[in-house]
Amino acid sequence: MKKIILTGDRPTGRLHIGHYVGSLKNRVEIQNKGQYDEMYIMIADAQALTDNADNPEKIRENIMEVALDYLSVGLDPSRVTIFIQSHVSALTELTFYYSNLVTVSRLQRNPTVKNEIKLRNFEANIPVGFFTYPISQAADITAFKANIVPVGEDQLPMIEQAREIVHAFNRVYKKDVLVKPEAVLPETEAALRLPGTDGNAKMSKSLGNCIYLADSKEEVERKIMGMYTDPDHIHVSDPGKVENNTVFTYLDAFSTEKDFQKFLPEYKNLDELKNHYRRGGVGDVKIKKFLLNIMEEILTPIRERRKYYEARIDEVYSILEEGSKHASEVANKTLQEVKEAMKINYFEDQELLETYRQKYAGNKEEN
Ligand code: ATP
Ligand code: MG
Repeated sequence: MKKIILTGDRPTGRLHIGHYVGSLKNRVEIQNKGQYDEMYIMIADAQALTDNADNPEKIRENIMEVALDYLSVGLDPSRVTIFIQSHVSALTELTFYYSNLVTVSRLQRNPTVKNEIKLRNFEANIPVGFFTYPISQAADITAFKANIVPVGEDQLPMIEQAREIVHAFNRVYKKDVLVKPEAVLPETEAALRLPGTDGNAKMSKSLGNCIYLADSKEEVERKIMGMYTDPDHIHVSDPGKVENNTVFTYLDAFSTEKDFQKFLPEYKNLDELKNHYRRGGVGDVKIKKFLLNIMEEILTPIRERRKYYEARIDEVYSILEEGSKHASEVANKTLQEVKEAMKINYFEDQELLETYRQKYAGNKEEN
């Protein structure tokens, strides 16, 4: 079977190291190993508008930020299609048809939607578009017949919902038109849902607790030095807790043995460092400086590529335009197949014309 990959990000802000370790890193690795047939990367502006309807300017501004973030982590437009969701109109049509296959109670049970509604304080005023965005996400995935979706853990209920829609569609319309997607999660547990620098459960653009890929070294340093560790670890000699210590969670997500050789050779690996911290005798500044070194190792080449593309904005603009055109062609093909399966492709259906002819053949014209 062909390997087709689709992922996306909402242009609600710059991308951060949670996106990197949760999803972007996986995409770049798959791209560089060439282990795929087609890869689509979507800037989900239409989805972002479902909870930012009154602020289109924010979405508009962030389209370029996200595009620059993509290019700066090493996604290569000659090998992957980068496109803008609102410019692939087949996605909206598919969403409309799929919504007939999903119940309101099923959407209400979606844990991600539930959680996000709480986060956004929508209470009783949930925009219908936001409530139904899992359906539009199923349209995004299935339009490209994607079978692999590299995402963070919060997206699992979305992939499940998409699989259910595929199942329902193929069953109801008696044709295997749509393909069931699989989520690909990051291998490291801490990367499944990277917490914010404030220790909040998830680093999220909407919560303002992020280290952004485009942050300067000074900003990264300020953010890391201000991070919470173990509140009871006051003196260097005090025993410290590693669990729920965000600096250690980040080290779990980002550090490798190579980083120890390079920046902290007195320890072989993270287990040794953790054990010493637990016993007491390791200061917080030391672990924060180590984390800063690791982050800088990752972020420096990303910043450099960003600078390169910032000096070539016209080029980035055409990458988005070309990508959106290509994505439209692919999605339109799926839409045609969907309409055919639903038997609403009236003008391509000669049989239908023939049935109409025969049905009305007996009726004589009156004069
Ligand atoms: P918003 O707050 O606007 O929803 P976000 O920061 O959650 O923004 P999205 O665009 O919704 O970002 O998510 C894009 C992708 O990044 C998804 O695959 C999501 O699972 C992943 N992701 C987002 N935040 C994290 C995180 N903190 N850790 C791991 N993966 C993440
Ligand atoms: Mg999100």
